[in-house]
Amino acid sequence: MSITIQPLDVNQRRSCPENFAFGTTFSDHMFTQEYDQTSGWNNALISPYHSLSLDPSAAVFHYSQEIFEGLKAYRSPTGVINLFRPEENIKRFNRSANRMVMPQVDEALHLDAIKSLIALDHQWVPSQNGSSLYIRPTMIATSPKLGLGASSNYQHFIICGPAGAYFKGGLEPIAVHVADKYRRAVVGGVGEAKTGGNYAASLYASEDVVKKGYSQVLWLDAVEGRYVEEVGAMNICFVYEGKRIVTPSLSGSILPGVTRDSLLKLAPTLGYEVAEERLDIELILADIASGKITEVFGCGTAAVISPVGVLCFKDKDYVVNNQKTGAVSKHLYDVLTGIQYGTHEDTFNWIQPVEI
Ligand SMILES: *Cc1c(COP(=O)(O)O)cnc(C)c1O
Repeated sequence: MSITIQPLDVNQRRSCPENFAFGTTFSDHMFTQEYDQTSGWNNALISPYHSLSLDPSAAVFHYSQEIFEGLKAYRSPTGVINLFRPEENIKRFNRSANRMVMPQVDEALHLDAIKSLIALDHQWVPSQNGSSLYIRPTMIATSPKLGLGASSNYQHFIICGPAGAYFKGGLEPIAVHVADKYRRAVVGGVGEAKTGGNYAASLYASEDVVKKGYSQVLWLDAVEGRYVEEVGAMNICFVYEGKRIVTPSLSGSILPGVTRDSLLKLAPTLGYEVAEERLDIELILADIASGKITEVFGCGTAAVISPVGVLCFKDKDYVVNNQKTGAVSKHLYDVLTGIQYGTHEDTFNWIQPVEI
């Protein structure tokens, strides 16, 4: 199946504005395709950004049958636009679809849709330091029916919009609150899938910690409330003695991040040891207090690396590295963003340039 392109007239196209707020400004075009039981996926189209028209009984509104992805296009200093491991997001999209009883999307078509959209809207990839074009593939259940069950109809769409540098003045450590009452996901549930309901379910706890002055929640496992899982929309890493990087093993309720996987592959080539383990929060806090843990950071597409300066558990603050960004966090951030922006050698072949 090929993608039909119905672009705006050239004189109606805009380029990325100087000032924009992440997540509220979108580029000129979007991709859409529809699925039904007789034709499968059809009507693959890139057309001007527009509202969707859905029946109020559409399944997505009632039972949250929906999935999404998040990846970025980066402009190199020489003007080349790079995607970073897009095939990983595309595979994860299909794994999420499978878990939510939604149809698989052809991987090659999905990549073509992303690349064609970016090529058409290339003027929307910002060039300021640390900025990028955020890409949001989504699939929703559209059957107009309230009966509970998997939908027969789906829409897959891709929108994108500019994202500024996550940290304006270099990496800044954040304060994180460990959830002691609320839980995000359980083994056997949908924590491994990037599905909207996970985030709706986490909002209450997030708002709660923001009121207390923390910016993110660190989730513990839902069975014992004891093992570290992840943070908001980031995975979490602990650095021992400046050389050993440990992250929770994929338990079945943790979202398997592309950034996490990239760091596990990259860090050993930079001289660090890496390990995936089941991490007991009490031992982690004891190791922070004793100074064995020298750095803590979250990792995800949005911030790449987000150093953690304070971890609060049961009303007690544990300060990490004097609330300063550590050398390991900075090193990994510099190399990984260097690969993404095409200024550091890409030995893993992670970068895919978009042909314009
Ligand atoms: C998206 C996401 C991550 C990070 O994944 P990346 O692929 O690195 O962006 C981590 N945890 C959750 C819950 C997420 O939704």
